[in-house]
Amino acid sequence: MTTTGGPGDTPSVALRTEALEQLLTERGLIDPKVMNEIITQYETNVGPLNGAKVVAKAWTDPGYRRRLLQDGTAAIRELGFSGQQGEHIVVVENTPTTHNVVVCTLCSCYPWPVLGLSPSWYKDPVYRARVVREPRTVLSAMGLEPDDDVRITVRDSTSEVRWLVLPERPAGTEHLSEEELVALVTRDAMVGVAKVTAP
Ligand code: FE
Repeated sequence: MTTTGGPGDTPSVALRTEALEQLLTERGLIDPKVMNEIITQYETNVGPLNGAKVVAKAWTDPGYRRRLLQDGTAAIRELGFSGQQGEHIVVVENTPTTHNVVVCTLCSCYPWPVLGLSPSWYKDPVYRARVVREPRTVLSAMGLEPDDDVRITVRDSTSEVRWLVLPERPAGTEHLSEEELVALVTRDAMVGVAKVTAP
């Protein structure tokens, strides 16, 4: 594995994690095999594609959209997605006049069953602190500039509630099938730091 630099450096997160894992294993608190399975599961099998399927279905099925906005967890489970960090997902809709963006100000709470593991910028203390105070500045730095009359709401994910954004369906996609729409939906759009664009 890679290690840190010279003496006096703070040990890297990877090194600390490894030390912790070793300690927990020695004490019989975790089984490394089970841990590896969980990590592989979220790295390879569960990812934003699940969320994209949820979004595309909501775009093409008004009944599903209604259920999704009423009870996100249940509607997401309808498509077979559930599990850790997905016990209570609330879905909010972005519209031409309202924009929702998600953060976890405290740590990195994130709806794993629909988005997989969170990207590093989501865990960055700068993003977490700044998006609450200056959402427009942060969004602009990430390439998104909502019009001045768009109301921006920052949603703080916690261990109790994890937010998922239902992005706006882009104009010019009326002829696309649900499957084709899935391919357009990005992770960033479901966190609210980007828009979905037509192909
Ligand atoms: Fe958190």
